[in-house]
Amino acid sequence: MEKKEIIKEYSKGEFTVVWKPRKCIHAATCVNTLPHVYDPNGKPWMKLENASVVELQSQIDNCPSGALSYYTKNK
Ligand code: SF4
Repeated sequence: MEKKEIIKEYSKGEFTVVWKPRKCIHAATCVNTLPHVYDPNGKPWMKLENASVVELQSQIDNCPSGALSYYTKNK
């Protein structure tokens, strides 16, 4: 039976990161690229205030599993 997807969202102003932990293959690309943002032991584990939206977008585009994605709210 397929497990239910877990989805968490973290926002930085209009920018929201979507995190689907069950998709993560633990390649650690995120932690290696932006170590000030992603701390697997931190609560919350990502601190979006420590990077610009552009930095976050370019890193998330490189997440190999699709566990991380993002959207921007339209006003
Ligand atoms: S880059 Fe994507 S797949 Fe790799 S650890 Fe981060 S969330 Fe998981």
